[in-house]
Amino acid sequence: MKLVLLGPPGAGKGTQAARLKETYRIPQLSTGDMLRAAAAAGTPAGRATKAIMDKGGLVPDETVVSIIAERIAEPDAKAGFILDGFPRTVPQAEVLDNLLASRKTGLDLVIELEVDDMALLERIAKRANETRASGGTVRADDNPEAFQVRLAAYHAQTAPLSEYYAKKGLLTAVDGMAPPDVVAKSIEHVLAGGALQAH
Ligand code: AMP
Repeated sequence: MKLVLLGPPGAGKGTQAARLKETYRIPQLSTGDMLRAAAAAGTPAGRATKAIMDKGGLVPDETVVSIIAERIAEPDAKAGFILDGFPRTVPQAEVLDNLLASRKTGLDLVIELEVDDMALLERIAKRANETRASGGTVRADDNPEAFQVRLAAYHAQTAPLSEYYAKKGLLTAVDGMAPPDVVAKSIEHVLAGGALQAH
């Protein structure tokens, strides 16, 4: 199964992708995690990327696309994968389609988690507080200023992907406002073949 999870920052893509990874035994490919790892490695390219991410902006398509192309070519991704945070722009989606087509395959489904902006702001603040309380390091982009930039990038550059995938007949929207267990059940239902709310 080759699946894309779409949705704004804080919608719960990472949480749901981690669950699906366990259920279906296919890798969760999070470009955010891959980019944070590259940034932590401290290479010049990694440092440039970190500066963009910390402010909440999108990393250039070429950077992200080359990372994901390499990752998709790895043996564990052959049977399927869950893309979490990729694609985020229409050009990224086009490259992904071409990449998969060249491997004689394609996406099976795109699930969009719908959450309204106010709820997202609250979730991000909560995530930062919980991380702080447990002694962890809060993500540099989990603050109100960077979050507004991330949200604006989502609306301007990522939201058009809903139409892109709807036109291909791949998109199903799921209510992401519900608690994680309920959202997981909705996703299971979609994957079992019962589309909830086709666009
Ligand atoms: P995430 O962990 O998915 O919230 O991503 C964190 C940050 O990584 C984003 O705000 C972007 O700066 C960067 N990023 C992750 N995925 C992408 C992508 N597909 N395209 C561009 N930038 C990305």
